[in-house]
Amino acid sequence: VGAAYECDAFTAVKSAPVAVVFPLSTQEVSAVVRYCVANGVPYTPRGAGTGLSGGATPTSGGVVVSLKRMAQILEVDLPNRRLHAQCGATNAQLTKAVEKHGFHFAPDPSSQKVSTLGGNIAENAGGPHTLKYGVTSSHVLQATVVDPTGEILVLGGKVPGAPGYDLLGLFIGSEGTMGIATEAWVKLTPNPQKVETALAFFNAPRDATQSVADMIAAGVVPPALEYLDATFMRVVSEAFGLVFPDGAKAFLLMEFDGTEASVARELEAAVAVCREHGTLDLRVAQSAAERDKLWFARKNAVGALGRLAPSKVSHDGVIPRSKLPDMLEFVDALAARRGMIIANLSHAGDGNLHPCMPYDDRDPADTERVKEAGAEVLRECVRLGGSLTGEHGIGIEKRDLMRLMYNDLDLAYQAEAWSILGGTGLCNPGKLLPEAGR
Ligand SMILES: Cc1cc2nc3c(=O)[nH]c(=O)nc-3n(C[C@H](O)[C@H](O)[C@H](O)COP(=O)(O)OP(=O)(O)OC[C@H]3O[C@@H](n4cnc5c(N)ncnc54)[C@H](O)[C@@H]3O)c2cc1C
Repeated sequence: VGAAYECDAFTAVKSAPVAVVFPLSTQEVSAVVRYCVANGVPYTPRGAGTGLSGGATPTSGGVVVSLKRMAQILEVDLPNRRLHAQCGATNAQLTKAVEKHGFHFAPDPSSQKVSTLGGNIAENAGGPHTLKYGVTSSHVLQATVVDPTGEILVLGGKVPGAPGYDLLGLFIGSEGTMGIATEAWVKLTPNPQKVETALAFFNAPRDATQSVADMIAAGVVPPALEYLDATFMRVVSEAFGLVFPDGAKAFLLMEFDGTEASVARELEAAVAVCREHGTLDLRVAQSAAERDKLWFARKNAVGALGRLAPSKVSHDGVIPRSKLPDMLEFVDALAARRGMIIANLSHAGDGNLHPCMPYDDRDPADTERVKEAGAEVLRECVRLGGSLTGEHGIGIEKRDLMRLMYNDLDLAYQAEAWSILGGTGLCNPGKLLPEAGR
C-alpha cells in the first residue's frame, strides 16, 4: 500500500500497512474494527498523519483506518455555543463553519489547516494559543467512540460536567490506543473584541527567554508567546527573503486578546519587560495584514527547515518556564558537541520546547544520531522537573522513555486504565506504554 501511510510526520520509523480503509460512518468504522478483531488483525486509526511521535505509523502492519472521508459538520448549535462534527473534519474547517457568527474552535495546532478533530482528541493537541485557552480536552464535550472490540460508545455529555468517572478525559490523549473517535461535540469560543500582535527581537536568546519568564511572573498571560532562534530566522530569511534587524539572534512573537482596555494594559506591560531585557526592535501590527506578516516567519519556520535536510524530528519536551534560558543553552551545547544542527522554537509561555533536528532519513547513522540527541534533550527536560511531551504525544518515539517519569506501579495503573475500554492489543499496538507496562 502507498508509502503515504508508512509513517506520520515522525519519519524516523516506517512500516507499511497491508490495507488502508476509508469508512464513511461510525457503523462502518465499527464493522472494520469487528472484522480486524475477529481475524486477529492489528489496526491503526489515522487522521491527517501530521502527528510528530509516530502514533499513526502502523508499526505492526495490518489495517490503517483513515477518518479522512468522515469530515462533515453535522450540526452548529450557536445558542449553546457548540458544534457537532465527524472526527475527520479539520480544525480550520470547524472554525470556518462558525467564523461568520463571531466564533472559533480554540485548539490551533500549527497544522490546523489539515490536522483532524480525531487526531487532536487522540493527542490532546495544543498550539500557539494554548497558554490562554487550554489544550483540546478543555474544548471537547462529548465523543462517539468505536471501542477496541467494535462497540459504539458515547463518552462525556453535550453539557459540561457529565457525572461519574471521566471516561472522556481518559480517552482524550490516549493516542489511538483506546478506540476510534468518530464524532464529537465541541465547544465554540467567541472571537475576542480586540487583538494586538507584537514581535520583539533580541541579540541574545537568554534575553528573550528571560522576558518570557518575567512577563508571566508579572501576571501577563498572552494567548500566544512564541520564541524563534537564530537558525530558524536564517532559514526563513533565505526561503522567503525576510529581513530581520542586524544582530538579532532570537525573537518573541506575542499576541494579546480581550477587551480594548485589557489588551492595552497587557501590551504595555509586555513591551516594558522586553525593553528591560534590551530588545533590539519591537514592532506592533497596525492592521490584520500586518498581523499576518508578523506571524509569517513563525508559521513558516518549520517548513523552511526543508532547506537544510530532507527530514526533521521535532521534539516537544516541557520544562518549568523559568528554566527556559538554561535549557536552550543545554540544547545549543548538545548540538555543538554532537556536530549537528538543532533549531529551536517554542511555545515559550507554556515552557513547551520544539528543538527541531534536520536530518537525512535515508542515512541510518544520521537517523540514529537524531534519535540519541532527542533522548538526551528529553532526559534533561525530565531532570529539570518537566515532561517528555507537551502536545505531540508519546507514540513510538518516546515510548521507551516513559520510565523516566513513571515507576512500575504507575505504569501498571496506566495499563489497567488502557484496558478499561476493552483493550484487545490490536488497536494501535506498540504505542504509548512500554511493552512491559502493557
Ligand atoms: C507542521 C506541523 C505543526 C504542528 N503543530 C502542532 C502544534 O502546534 N500543536 C500540537 O499539539 N501538535 C502539532 N503538530 C502535531 C499534529 O499536527 C497534532 O498531533 C495533530 O493533532 C494530529 O492530528 P492528525 O489528524 O494529523 O492525526 P494523526 O497524525 O493522523 O494521528 C495522531 C494520533 O491520533 C490517532 N488518531 C487519529 N485519528 C483518530 C481518531 N479519529 N480516533 C482515535 N485516534 C485517532 C492516531 O492513531 C495517532 O496515534 C504539528 C504537526 C506538524 C506537521
